[in-house]
Amino acid sequence: MTAVRSQMLEVVRDAYPETFEKLGPSKPLGESVFSGRTPHPNEVLNLFVQQGLTSALPMAYYMATRRGPSSLMDRSLPRNATLSPEVLQSAITGLMALRELELNETHRMIFEPKGSRPCSASNCPSRTPTGPAALEAYRTAFDRIVGSSQFGTKVLQVPEFYEDCGGELQCFGPGICGGCVERWESGHAELRKEAWAALPRIFGLKD
Ligand SMILES: [Zn+2]
Repeated sequence: MTAVRSQMLEVVRDAYPETFEKLGPSKPLGESVFSGRTPHPNEVLNLFVQQGLTSALPMAYYMATRRGPSSLMDRSLPRNATLSPEVLQSAITGLMALRELELNETHRMIFEPKGSRPCSASNCPSRTPTGPAALEAYRTAFDRIVGSSQFGTKVLQVPEFYEDCGGELQCFGPGICGGCVERWESGHAELRKEAWAALPRIFGLKD
């Protein structure tokens, strides 16, 4: 039993990494690591709380909160996926903090980039950052990054800036150049790192 338990813990630790650095690029994350029926993230969170799996808790909280309050408080879930008042309080408080971080930082990154000059690429709307074309493109980008259903959060998710536009992949919003997209990509990578580091504090697991 001990061997089975330690093997299971290893799998869990990979899917619910403690730090950003331990995050593998292609490993299954969160509840998708469980074979068979995929458990509800609330159920996983309950299990980890009961088992005292401290290192996996920040990620487990995140996986449950990213679906938003209606999922956290879903009354139709079975008992083992119903959160206790204490856990629910931490989850909701954390969700609000994460959402605020996500909205503020994404807004700053797109609308008020620090220390950057206007883009020099021809045809890029960012040549005139305050013009209507740029603002429209920025709004599209902002919505794409933070737009989430049910008021959850996507702060740890890598945003998709490119889409398939009839066989052509390199197409984003109205005319934003590759250089500008790259700047957003690296800005969002920083944000994910920051959000990761903040998870234990945000969910009240650490002072
Ligand atoms: Zn540009």
